[in-house]
Amino acid sequence: MERIAVITSGGDAPGMNAAIRAVVRTAIYNNIKIFGVKLGFNGLIHSEFQEMDVASVGDIVHRGGTILRTARCDQFNSEEGLKMALEVIENYEIEGVVIIGGDGSFRGAKDLSRLGVPAVGIPATIDNDIGCTDFSIGFDTAVNTALDAINKIRDTITSHGRANIVEVMGRDAGDIALYAGVAGGAENIIVPELPFDIDEICADLNDGKERGKLSHIILLAEGVGHADKSNRAERLSEKIEAKTGIETRATILGHIQRGGNPSMFDRILASRMGAHAVDLLSKGIGNRVVCLVDNKIIDKDIEEALSIEKKFDMELYELSKILSI
Ligand code: ATP
Repeated sequence: MERIAVITSGGDAPGMNAAIRAVVRTAIYNNIKIFGVKLGFNGLIHSEFQEMDVASVGDIVHRGGTILRTARCDQFNSEEGLKMALEVIENYEIEGVVIIGGDGSFRGAKDLSRLGVPAVGIPATIDNDIGCTDFSIGFDTAVNTALDAINKIRDTITSHGRANIVEVMGRDAGDIALYAGVAGGAENIIVPELPFDIDEICADLNDGKERGKLSHIILLAEGVGHADKSNRAERLSEKIEAKTGIETRATILGHIQRGGNPSMFDRILASRMGAHAVDLLSKGIGNRVVCLVDNKIIDKDIEEALSIEKKFDMELYELSKILSI
């Protein structure tokens, strides 16, 4: 291939810039012209292309967000939108596309590949909800951001003898809550994958208080509150306080988890995945998703990758219960 493009699509994640940099520099290293597409699939439809040179990705490896910006694009889901994108791709003589995003974006990559434009997906989403890869770009950074907040919350609630519900992101996957919970020493972890019993949590709180514990942190994945409004952080904290008499606060971390300098892990993952995606395209291979499995960078057919169910790590969850006795 002589001309390829790179897109970031769906929700942003720290490390997307490191992935763009890896794609651009690996392409240039291999004498492939590389174009950045603005605002996700919108840029494909509306011809928002810019040729990227080595310097265009300078000074971004450490920055959160995405210099290409990102967006959702419903138009791309329609045959008409797809047709418009194909015309633009043809005009620019683009022979392959790298799409950095979540599983929705990979469906777009699959459509492009089906219509003769080899496309490769790179998983980037803080939720870590993509089944085909052990980790997606952005997850590690988001967990570290949550951890930093948990440490600070622990300081203040210990001073007052309070409990605190910390709501973290995670629509359908509780990985941020699980990992931040284990690493932050949370007493309870509530995730969308598992049912929970508020009375058990209250019993844990009361037991802890009797043993002289001064703080109690409950990690809550946002998806739990989406599924049932009465389980939103504020409502849950009111219920727990009413049942135990222990002052319980709610803190919703929100979008701070989406930003910030990517961690070492995310920068390395993004660098390895970006280079692998370009290697695939340079061999004319598309319709693949780049994955991290057992610390090896591999690739899978998009359809197969999308069919792999995301597994919740029950072992880690059980460990969290043992360590928080
Ligand atoms: P995240 O989960 O982090 O939000 P995502 O990539 O899953 O990322 P989506 O909003 O699901 O985010 O998808 C991003 C874009 O991918 C959509 O706006 C649309 O342009 C394209 N897309 C999604 N689903 C399809 C599909 N079935 N066919 C073609 N394109 C799709």
